[in-house]
Amino acid sequence: MQFKILVVDDEPGAIQVLARILDDLGEVLAATDGASALQTAHRCKPDLILLDANMPGMNGFDVCDAFRSDAELGDVPIIFVTSNDAPEFEVAGFEHGASDFISKPVVPALVRARVKAQLRMKQMGDELRRLAAEDSLTGLATRRRFDDALSRELGVAQRSGQPVSLLALDVDHFKRYNDHYGHPAGDACLRAVARAMLGACKRPADLVARVGGEEFAIVLPQTSLEASALVAHRVLDAVAALNIPHLGLGTDARISVSVGASSYVGLGRRDAHEPSSTGAMPWAPDREQLVAALVAAADKALYEAKSTGRNRACSLALGFGPRASVALAVGRDAGVLATAH
Ligand code: GH3
Ligand code: MG
Ligand code: MG
Repeated sequence: MQFKILVVDDEPGAIQVLARILDDLGEVLAATDGASALQTAHRCKPDLILLDANMPGMNGFDVCDAFRSDAELGDVPIIFVTSNDAPEFEVAGFEHGASDFISKPVVPALVRARVKAQLRMKQMGDELRRLAAEDSLTGLATRRRFDDALSRELGVAQRSGQPVSLLALDVDHFKRYNDHYGHPAGDACLRAVARAMLGACKRPADLVARVGGEEFAIVLPQTSLEASALVAHRVLDAVAALNIPHLGLGTDARISVSVGASSYVGLGRRDAHEPSSTGAMPWAPDREQLVAALVAAADKALYEAKSTGRNRACSLALGFGPRASVALAVGRDAGVLATAH
């Protein structure tokens, strides 16, 4: 793996010295002040930053603070390069989020040893972050990322008044598939179904996650219930197109999924504070309540899809206050399902 190391120093000569020392450890990028260091880091996503503690304008501590409070750059380790070896300076550096210190004038062997140690730790951290974010069987998002995404998108919806939809999906009669074909074949089937789901989601913001054994969920930002029904049907079609025989179920049986869709339309900032036509203030649920309500609605719709024959999608809208919308069923056999308040 090719590492990227960003060296920040107001003296170009000092950058050159470090660049020569680090030459074979990765690609060395340079910045001569804090602001351009942040810009370069946003563009190039470095694995490590070597930061001159003493620069005019934004000093090392300021730059460190800026990196640490940046959502995208908060995890990048920073080594201070400094001629100040006072213990209180180092303590302050660690408090600002520095990972290590290199003394000026630099000793090449020590610089390389410290840089290698930080790169090793960065690599381990990246791997842990990847494991937490990516389901190892299918490569889809994990349940943890799904939880984060749903909560975040519901927050956006609450503020903006835009809709957000959720699909809950479950492979039909999968226990019998495993029983008939064995667990490894079951795993291969789940991978194929995951690919079909990804292919059915067209927008980059859509998030497809594996939330349990043969259970999946899709978060569809800025998508109405009606539009989410289209995605649900694309998933049903894509899984049908896989044409995976399910002889454990019957001679002509194929692998299918059932889908429950639910949707929330935010009230927006203004409406949230206006009484409804009856004079009652709309219920403004907190984020956790909203997440739980939307998941419960999607699960209820999924249950409906299962109990009415599987290989179909059912929907249940979720609305609060004056704009509470009616629910509709959009299964292969459409019909009004219920309204959730
Ligand atoms: P339904 O249509 O009602 O959803 O029936 P089902 O058989 O799919 O549901 P059930 O929840 O009874 O069984 C789910 C099965 O999924 C149980 C287990 O054998 C299988 N399963 C769960 N996780 C995995 C996995 O990671 N790999 C494989 N191969 N099978 C799994
Ligand atoms: Mg199932
Ligand atoms: Mg299940």
